[in-house]
Amino acid sequence: MTASDDPSTAFRFCPGCGGLLEVRAIRDAPRQVCRACGRVVYRHPAVGVAVVVRRGETLLFGRRARGPYRGAWCLPCGYVEWGEEVRAAAARECREETGLIVTVGAVLAVHSNFHDPERLTVGIWLAGEVVGGELAPGDDLDRVGFFPLAAPPEPLAFPTDRRVLAELQAGALDRIPDSTVG
Ligand SMILES: [Zn+2]
Repeated sequence: MTASDDPSTAFRFCPGCGGLLEVRAIRDAPRQVCRACGRVVYRHPAVGVAVVVRRGETLLFGRRARGPYRGAWCLPCGYVEWGEEVRAAAARECREETGLIVTVGAVLAVHSNFHDPERLTVGIWLAGEVVGGELAPGDDLDRVGFFPLAAPPEPLAFPTDRRVLAELQAGALDRIPDSTVG
């Protein structure tokens, strides 16, 4: 069991009543259970979305302006908010981070992200087609630009972005609409 699997390290108090949590075996799995109300507190990965925007043989990347991955590059991405539809989240993140308005299409890849043990996520990489907006870094990014798929900007922040780039190089690039303008 890794630290990220260990529910005893996850939370201290019940989100329902504020009671203290303790670890109990529930159907042979260690779970956090509220001493006061008996609620079992499950821990799940968050859902992240990334948008893959293509111009010819190049893809849109952004450089992260803050946080532990400051200075590293990634495909435009972010978390799905509670109550938010997954493609709406992808379009929102792309617009907030790059200024580009996209329609979100096919699912290109789905992977579990384990690179940050405290924030496990399931990532969904979606094709985006530019329909408007002006390219400019925003939100958590300080640079944005199109780079060759075969020579992405380094360092890359996330190992799963690199994995997806390899998958796209292996033949999935045609599944992304070409957003080259003019
Ligand atoms: Zn409780």
